[in-house]
Amino acid sequence: MQSKSKHRQRFGYSTIQEALEKFLSNVDDSKISLAVEIVSLEDAKDRVLAKDLASRIDLPPFKRAAMDGYAVLARDTKGASKKNPVLLDVIGSISAGEQTSFRVKSTKVVGIATGARMPKGADAVMMVEYTQRQNQKVKIFQEVESGKHVALKGEDVKKGQIVLQKGRWLTPQDVGIIAATGINKVHVFRKPRIAIFSTGSELVEPGSVNGAGCIFESNRRMISGMVTEYGADVVDLGICKDDRDAIKARLKKALVFDAVIVSGGSSVGEKDFVPEIINEMGKPGVVVHGIAMKPGSPTALGFVNGKPIIAVPGYPVSAFVAFYIFGRALLQKILKTLGPKEGRLMARITDEVKLHEGKYTFLRVKVINDNGSYLAEPISAAGASLLSTLAYSNGMVIIGNRNKLRKGEKVEVVLLGGIRENFIGGAE
Ligand code: AMP
Ligand code: MG
Repeated sequence: MQSKSKHRQRFGYSTIQEALEKFLSNVDDSKISLAVEIVSLEDAKDRVLAKDLASRIDLPPFKRAAMDGYAVLARDTKGASKKNPVLLDVIGSISAGEQTSFRVKSTKVVGIATGARMPKGADAVMMVEYTQRQNQKVKIFQEVESGKHVALKGEDVKKGQIVLQKGRWLTPQDVGIIAATGINKVHVFRKPRIAIFSTGSELVEPGSVNGAGCIFESNRRMISGMVTEYGADVVDLGICKDDRDAIKARLKKALVFDAVIVSGGSSVGEKDFVPEIINEMGKPGVVVHGIAMKPGSPTALGFVNGKPIIAVPGYPVSAFVAFYIFGRALLQKILKTLGPKEGRLMARITDEVKLHEGKYTFLRVKVINDNGSYLAEPISAAGASLLSTLAYSNGMVIIGNRNKLRKGEKVEVVLLGGIRENFIGGAE
């Protein structure tokens, strides 16, 4: 391994922002343009909308009752109170989905269910809770104003309105609104196919016999999970020894797909061949090598004939943060989306933390809800090889241009997991 200063000397560190800018501006849309495919709603969640989606109908599609009760003329309820109820005639009832021809005139009402079409003439719904039925009559104990508990046609969504825009990462709620407009198929981008392989002669597959000096391979599984989380399909190309020809051959296979993630061998050590090989295989080669972040500084970003390649360092936490920053941004760019949603919150740090000056530090934290305000307990700011520091944290604080965080300082946390709630009042 060569020293950090040697690394800096050879490449100079880019800031994360510079690296992102250099990398993303080199992404050639014409080389990675995703086809549009049509999927049914069952398969639409977590896909990216490829066309603006307009509603073909008004929502609600007709004027309807928003409560169970009686469709009335509001003015007939004037003066009604518990002591002085108004007595009105019930001329029928309408349930949801029923077509009727009732017309509500003065002193007449129609029983109505939530969601049922409002009868002609009626301008309000009197909630059943404030009435008392007496055969064909009903006692009304409260006034109601015109328009109350009536949902107007198109008040939710207007016919022709763009309900969701191109680039939208479809959530369950989105799928719900698409279904509500009567549409059962949507145009989405084809999922990019991301080839991934790990380099390292010491690596063996989990489940196999672990020989002397061997390390179980974990980055590929972890990053594959992130790839699918950010909307792409994984093409798993396995483990490759630290051998130039073997890596070249594997990279050649990988370059058939939309983008490539290579784990390990990205630094400047004797067996770190990946950046050189990227340069040898095509233009423009490596565009960024060495990033002012910790962990993750030996990350390399490049292109071979227009295909993006992210070479993440082998240390698992480095691999995670490098993919979190660059892999996620690449997939968002390819898929023309901002999604999927990411939770962030402000929390107070519970201890002083030393940061890596001149670099962005990826501090792993445990966020807890302390009676309604969030605390972030530092787990580790270093330890690129310590995967447990990542697995045991539920948040990450990304912070640059500082040498330390003071105890009690407010920081923004990217949530990586759920928060154990400490509910007010102690109920749990
Ligand atoms: P490298 O970046 O290739 O120099 O790898 C640094 C260290 O990270 C190696 O010594 C391995 O112990 C570990 N490592 C590399 N690749 C992986 C991997 N795919 N899974 C788990 N650990 C790895
Ligand atoms: Mg290695």
